[in-house]
Amino acid sequence: MKLYKIKKSKIDNRRGLYATKNIKEGTKIINYIGKIITNREVEESAKFDNNKPIYLFTLNNRYTLDGDFHWNTAGLINHSCNNNCDYEGKGYKVWVSAIRDIKKGEELTCDYGFGFDKDYKQFPCKCGAKNCCGYIVRAGSRFRINKKFAISKKKTNKSL
Ligand SMILES: [Zn+2]
Repeated sequence: MKLYKIKKSKIDNRRGLYATKNIKEGTKIINYIGKIITNREVEESAKFDNNKPIYLFTLNNRYTLDGDFHWNTAGLINHSCNNNCDYEGKGYKVWVSAIRDIKKGEELTCDYGFGFDKDYKQFPCKCGAKNCCGYIVRAGSRFRINKKFAISKKKTNKSL
């Protein structure tokens, strides 16, 4: 039995993936599949023009995985500021793993990992999490949008 099913998501009215049973932290849930292309193709193709690597994973200094295909079910996973999954890669494989225990029926979410840049307002976040910063920006950069997200950074400094 698969650990996920496709369902209409509460986030952004699109489809998303939902846990079909309780999932333990660290479990590999689904492979993120696509086509392996060269980093040069990424630079030269108009397809990737908007500069946001929504479906792209840089595998190494030569190759990138392009997951922008309808058969890449993992591509349906939505971004959340309070994500319960994350992307993991090894060699030429990328998969989605649980980063905490997930309950049956919860939507699976990842951190898309967008850096902060002048275009961040193009990608509003509707995840509905208490800690939502309003835009799809990776955790480490959210303090640039709102200072209250700097708390976790302060904590790190204290522990040094
Ligand atoms: Zn959010």
